[in-house]
Amino acid sequence: MSYPIENILVTGGAGYIGSHVVRDLGEQGYNPIVFDNLSTGNRDFVLYGDFIKGDLKDIYSITKIIKKYKIKSVIHFAAFIAVEESVNKPIKYYNNNFFNSLNLIKSCVENGVENFIFSSSAAVYGIPEELPVKENSQLNPVNPYGRSKMFTELLLKDISSINKNFSYIALRYFNVAGADKKLRIGQKYENPTHLITLALRTALGEYESLKIFGTDYNTPDGTAIRDYIHIEDLSNAHILCLDYLKKKKNSEVFNCGYGKGYSVFEVVNTVKKATKINIKTVNSERREGDPPILVADSNLIKDKLGWRPKHNDLELIINSAWEWEKKLKKKENK
Ligand code: UDP
Repeated sequence: MSYPIENILVTGGAGYIGSHVVRDLGEQGYNPIVFDNLSTGNRDFVLYGDFIKGDLKDIYSITKIIKKYKIKSVIHFAAFIAVEESVNKPIKYYNNNFFNSLNLIKSCVENGVENFIFSSSAAVYGIPEELPVKENSQLNPVNPYGRSKMFTELLLKDISSINKNFSYIALRYFNVAGADKKLRIGQKYENPTHLITLALRTALGEYESLKIFGTDYNTPDGTAIRDYIHIEDLSNAHILCLDYLKKKKNSEVFNCGYGKGYSVFEVVNTVKKATKINIKTVNSERREGDPPILVADSNLIKDKLGWRPKHNDLELIINSAWEWEKKLKKKENK
């Protein structure tokens, strides 16, 4: 007996994380329907499925797609992601990350979508009371980006509690880096803000120096600590979430990190080691909206989904990102 291929709607599927999940969905035999406005995404990153250029605010188009492709499962990545920008442009963040998500979720519920996977963030915790931080810790985001993610999580919780056919998983990402093993896709932003990318691009000579945002945090070396996770392990977590939602129909919230924190200086030293380039750093003021330490307790996703990270090694992550950055640079110079 043959089954029709299942369509999965992926908003933001041409972006960094989305494109990896689209690749995995395709490899698993799903047909991803990618909806992306290409504001930061890349059309050629969509390795499988159908691509539709569109903006999340166009709820009419989204509803049409859900109906046309008989969508039962949605993975929602499309969002703005820069913490500091969110402090300066809160409306931009609440509008796209929360208001547009609300319309998307409303359309999903009204049109028979059963499973919803949401890209949330460790930023929902703010400054955690306990570390590593657990899913049931107090949510106290310290910037509009984190609040826009928290509001969407709360909305999903409220909606799923009154719609028994609608279940969701919110995945709280920690700091994602690295690229596809075949180097087909990776991080490609015009104005990157992430530490590993900026450090590697400094190594490539694109920037003269790397700013260290804050050296007076209450941490062993004074710089902020994050839990860096390889894109391949994060991508795999989405596939496990989809399987779980389809089988169990239970709504869940999961942290997705390795449970080990590295300071900005530790990351910079690992970048120097991986690239064998002595990048110049400049100690600077703290960046607005940055919590001092974020490290995940990811036991829940391991227990419930059997998630088993395979790339939990900072050097491995940085080497993967380095190979990708070198490839990008080579392409640009052609
Ligand atoms: N950071 C830094 N210099 C940079 C970019 C980032 O010192 O050029 C720091 C940032 O302040 C934070 C950590 O590196 O403490 C990780 O920042 P990133 O933007 O990569 O991720 P976030 O944790 O903000 O999501």
